[in-house]
Formats: sequence, C-alpha cells, structure tokens
Amino acid sequence: MAIWNLGSINADFVYSVPHIPAPGETLASTDRKVFLGGKGANMSVAAARAAARVNHIGAVGHDGRWAVDRLLEYGVDTTHIEQIDVETAQAIIAVDAQGENSIILHQGANVAIPQHTLEQALTRAKTGDTFVFQNETNLQQEGAKLAREMGLTVAYAAAPFDAAAVQTVLPHLDFLILNEVEADQLKSASGQGPADLPVKDVIVTLGSDGATWFGPDGKAHIPAHKVTPVDTTGAGDTFTGYVLACLDRGQPMLQALQTASKAAALMVMRHGTADVIPDLKDVQDFSG
Ligand code: ADP
Repeated sequence: MAIWNLGSINADFVYSVPHIPAPGETLASTDRKVFLGGKGANMSVAAARAAARVNHIGAVGHDGRWAVDRLLEYGVDTTHIEQIDVETAQAIIAVDAQGENSIILHQGANVAIPQHTLEQALTRAKTGDTFVFQNETNLQQEGAKLAREMGLTVAYAAAPFDAAAVQTVLPHLDFLILNEVEADQLKSASGQGPADLPVKDVIVTLGSDGATWFGPDGKAHIPAHKVTPVDTTGAGDTFTGYVLACLDRGQPMLQALQTASKAAALMVMRHGTADVIPDLKDVQDFSG
C-alpha cells in the first residue's frame, strides 16, 4: 500500500532577533537558518520515517529544488512535485530570546499546484491506498473527491483550521484529525462535535493529554508519554504521519495511535521540524 500526500512544501527562514520588530522598526538579526517546512512536507517525512511508501503531490518554484532533494533524502517519492513558474512557499519566522515568534507566510507554489499534477499522480494510486491533505494547498476538494471515487482512504488534517474548508471536504472523508482547539472551533461553527461528524474515524489530539479516537464502535483515549518538551512544533504533523503510515501497514487503529504517540513524544523533545522527525527504530526503542 502507499500514501499519497497532497501537501505544502515551505522554505522556513528562521531569523533570531533580540525582540519582535515593532511597526516601522528595522532590526538586524543575530542568526538565520533555512529549514524544510510546511505541514505537508512534515507529514510526508514522518510517514516515510515510519517506513511507509509516500508519494508527495505538490509544487515548488525554480528556487525549490533543494527542498525536493531534501524530501528525497528522507525517503519520499517526489515524482509528483511539479516545478512551476511561481516561487516556493516561504515562512519568514522571527524568534526572540524568549522563544516568542511572529510569522509571515507567503503561500506561493503551494496554492498553484496544477490540476494535472494531482490527476497524474492519482492515476498511479491503487484501491486501498491512502490520500491525505491539509489546509495549506489548493485542489483540496478535487483531490478528496477524486481519491474517494477511486476507492482510496481519504484523510484530512484540518490545519490551519478553516470551518468552511472542513465543511467542503467533509462528505469525502474517511479520517479526520484535529487538535483540541480546532475541534472546539468546528463545534462552534457547525454545532457538530467529533462524535457527530459523518466520518468513520475522527482523532482529536490533546497535546500533553494525548489523543481521543472517535471510531465506529465508540471512543478511546490514548495517553501521551510523560516527557519534558523543548519544542512542540511539528508534533501534530509527526503524529498524523505516523498514524497513517501504521494504518497503511495494516495495524489496528489503537496500535497505530500508540506508535504515533511515541513518535510525537520524541519529537517534542527535539528542536526543529522535518529534519528531526524520528525514524521507526528510534520510536520502537523509545520506552518513555
Ligand atoms: P498540534 O501540534 O497539531 O497542535 P497537539 O499539540 O495536540 O497537536 O500534539 C499532537 C500529539 O503530540 C499529541 O496527541 C501527543 O501525542 C503529542 N504531544 C504533544 N505535546 C506533547 C507533550 N508536551 N508531551 C508528550 N506528547 C505530546
């Protein structure tokens, strides 16, 4: 089986600054680093680290070859990442000495993925494969609908949250994952709690409190591991990538969630995102 991820690919430019610049202020940074980012790329790396066959569907500009190469190094199939005449998505992240940040996101190529790229990719998918997407690209509805028609399992990580986007794709979903804040936002917008949604499996992640699975036979809670977090960025993406990879291998949901919980716990103990997502061996060895 395989995973097809319609997902964002960002260049994260992280600038260390003494404080977050005020309006009108010009401020010199004390350090600058460039990382691979975007929820889509993070999930592809996580699922590949979890030993799944992962095909990323997306787009970068001519400045984004390095990001594609990085995904390749992490074991992601990049055949369906199109290089287009729109610049690669960028996140300009200022981080101050207290760890407070401000982010400017330029979506660029992430929202200009050509429809033929999606369609060509899915012609190679097989019934029973998984199609996953997040709310950082175009073609979400088209992808979900087409994948469902083809008999793929359709999974949505509803972040960054937008109630209208969720409503649009809801009829096509088999699997929905949200964090606690997003689940509350959905409830306020639609009146539907996780158990009321017309989706076979709904997972609500609860940070250090773990996650709750609302499945066809009721709900189950999966505790988080007790660890000292240093950086929670990418925990949710790692969790999602691992769950989907384990399900794709045929594991039952509870076992998949337990493995994902270990992977996410390891992730919160590390600084960074895509580049530090733990591999399956690290996760299996983790006894925390
Ligand atoms: P998101 O990053 O999308 O907001 P959460 O914060 O809910 O998602 O985290 C996703 C998962 O990561 C949780 O379900 C949990 O398994 C793990 N996790 C997050 N924070 C911690 C933590 N402080 N300690 C241990 N595990 C954590």
